Formats: sequence, structure tokens, C-alpha cells
Amino acid sequence: MRLRCYPYTLELSHPFTLSSGTRNTTPVMLVEVEEDGLTGYGEASMPPYLGETHETARAFLLRVELPCSPELSNLGEILRAVDAIAPGNHAAKAGVDIALHDWLGKKLGQPWYRIWGLDPGDAPVSSFTIGIGEREDVLRKVEEAHGFPVFKVKLGCDRDREIIEAVREVTDKPIRVDVNQGWADRDHALRMCEWLASKNVELVEQPMPKEQLEDMAWLRSRSPIPVIADESVSRLADVRKAYGVFDGVNVKLMKATGLREAHAMILAARSLGLKVMLGCMTETSCAISAAAQLSPLADWADLDGALLINNDPFIGATVTGGRVTLTDRPGIGAVKMI
Ligand code: MG
Repeated sequence: MRLRCYPYTLELSHPFTLSSGTRNTTPVMLVEVEEDGLTGYGEASMPPYLGETHETARAFLLRVELPCSPELSNLGEILRAVDAIAPGNHAAKAGVDIALHDWLGKKLGQPWYRIWGLDPGDAPVSSFTIGIGEREDVLRKVEEAHGFPVFKVKLGCDRDREIIEAVREVTDKPIRVDVNQGWADRDHALRMCEWLASKNVELVEQPMPKEQLEDMAWLRSRSPIPVIADESVSRLADVRKAYGVFDGVNVKLMKATGLREAHAMILAARSLGLKVMLGCMTETSCAISAAAQLSPLADWADLDGALLINNDPFIGATVTGGRVTLTDRPGIGAVKMI
């Protein structure tokens, strides 16, 4: 089976500011696998703070050798071999995993949600992300996202209350808050959770630095709103560590090394009584459409990544007005347009 990759740079519609910094672009590596006249598409999205680049992804993908005619029965074995090439490289591994899933789904003539036996009607609504910004920027983004039923507001700066007050001036829709590890002090984090609860905030994601698990467990036992792990939980082995520390986990293909492990993470989280958010990076509709195949298994979806860019080379599962719409298209359901 042939594997090709192409570096690509996503242009963000607005500068995107998190507690870790601001950026205007996101590097991605588009991955294709081909055999029997079928092409499977995949994608590695590499926000700079996670450490992968076009160069590291290309170097990793050059070492990937895929056997002829993969089947469902040896997909796990193939992906374990890819994983064993080198540690890290989660996004590059996800690119291979997604492309293989796409190719296999096309070979079977079925979308993945159907292969997994899921009902598209079970997909939760998706939030729309509002990055950190000045008051006017925040209000403009809320206005642009008026069709969405729920917002994910990024916090973790010295103007957190001001930002939430600004959003609350113009809408009473539910808000989810993502702090991206921005509150190092647990007493401050608890005061904020109590205040956010009074502002109709549904949940708080990764309030404290990822390694502060004891503080996070302390916070979780006192917070009136659910506390969800993002940066603290990347792969399957991390899900167990979230038990007793968080109320739920945010599962993302780019952290999980792809669909196969993300699916296993969701099942593991469920068995531990943890809630599941299905999230994304800024990504094209290739990776978003892949993640959307899992959306019927999630409590909360945050799949707006392709809506934040203006040069999407794919169409796929859509997230319109927060509604995740899966299609009958086989594989991951994405079509390359250019
Ligand atoms: Mg997050």
C-alpha cells in the first residue's frame, strides 16, 4: 500500500488566542494511502504548542511501511506497528490511522459510524469556540456564531470575568469554559468555578496545569460544575488516571493517535463512569469528518475546527448551527475538493 503526504498550512479566519499564546495559522500534514484504485485520506494537525512540525511529521511518515491489502482483522496490528516506530508523533500517527480507516471504510462501502453500529441521531450538538480577545473581539465572535446553541469560551488570562460578563451581556445560551491550564492556584480555580456556575456555565475544561492532578482532584470534589480533562489526558493509558480526578475527558484524534485509540478511550472512559467530550484542533474537514464518525458516542461535541479556517480543501460531515450531520459517504465521509 502506497503512502503519500503533503504539507499544508491552515489559515485561521481570526487570530486565535489561548492562555498559551496567539497564532494565525496551523501547520497540517495531509496523508493519503492508495491501493486497488481507492484513496484513503488522513490528516495530522499540529498546533505549535504540541511540538510536532511539518519536518517531524514528514520524517516520521517516511518510516511508515504499510502492508498490502489491510483488513479490519489486522488493522490493530498495523497501527500498533506504526505506533512502535517512535514515541510521540501523535498527530502524524493519527494521519496514518485516519487514512487507513478511510481506505478500509471505502473498501467495505460503509461509513465508520455504521461499521461501529452507531446511530447518527445520537450525536450531541457542537459548541463554537470563542478565543481570548478584547471585549469588542469577543462580542463580534459571539455575534458571528449566533446560529450555535452553545459556546466554548477560552479563559485563563487576567480578564476572565470581564470576558464572561461580555458574553452574558448579549446571550444567555449555555457556555462551556476552557482554561487551557491557565489557573495555577487551586483556591483561585475554585472561586472561579463557583462564580462561573452562577453565570450558567455548564463545565470547565482543564482549569489547572496538566501535572497538578492532586489539586485537580481537590477542585473537582468542591466545584459545582463538572471539571473535564484535556491536556492531562492524551492516550488510552491516561484515561484511568482521570478517574477520581476529573468528571470527564476530552478525546481528540490528534492526541489519541487516531480513530482506533479514540474509540477505545471513549469506551474506557464510559466504563469508569467518566463523561466524554469529543474535541478537535483547528483541522480541515478531513479530520473533523473522521472525528464526527465517533460523535454519537459523546456527551458533548466540540468539532468546530474546520469552521475556524478559510482554506479547507475538503468537504465532509458538517457542523452547521451546532448540528453534526453525518452522511452516507463511505470511510470517514470526506471528499477532497482541490
Ligand atoms: Mg481544551
